Amino acid sequence: ESDLELITRLIRPFPDFPSKGIVFRDICPVLKNPAALAAVIDLFEQHVRQTHPLVDLVVGIDARGFLFGPLLAQRLGVGFVMVRKKGKLPGPRVSVGYTLEYGTAEAEIQEDAVSAGQKVVLIDDLLATGGTLFAACELMKQRRADVLGCLVVVELNDLSGADKLKPHSVFSLVRY
Ligand code: IMP
Repeated sequence: ESDLELITRLIRPFPDFPSKGIVFRDICPVLKNPAALAAVIDLFEQHVRQTHPLVDLVVGIDARGFLFGPLLAQRLGVGFVMVRKKGKLPGPRVSVGYTLEYGTAEAEIQEDAVSAGQKVVLIDDLLATGGTLFAACELMKQRRADVLGCLVVVELNDLSGADKLKPHSVFSLVRY
């Protein structure tokens, strides 16, 4: 079994969660399996070293981007920054609103988290419509940081999230 086969086998579908008609892809078994979690970080590390060798920071998306982001940042020898849901971060912040399936949300970073000209990769567990990562890209734009690309464990092809994120690239390990 290859690393990618192991990761793929461990991602579980939950039909009708969180609401009817949605198939939720659950990455919890990947976190629970040390070989699989190491494989995820190996694959992200290889990709970033080959494609974005000049990266300055890994930026993780609330909340499951926080599970993979710091591990990757440590491997790369760079820092980790959080994009959080509104109201969680202290001090001067930059925010951006975005739309969810129902209603709206706001994403924030601390003003001093990223500086102009820094090169970042964004990371989350899963890309669906792309609204969440798009908001994170907007925050990077406001700080005049340079988004090298987006990394996700899972990409849901039918929702065309990668199109929404263009011209930024998306690197995904498993696609449905
Ligand atoms: P998007 O903004 O529509 O691309 O949704 C992506 C965000 O919703 C990510 O932060 C995911 O963690 C979360 N999400 C959406 N669908 C799923 C799923 O099936 N499994 C796990 N997370 C999901």
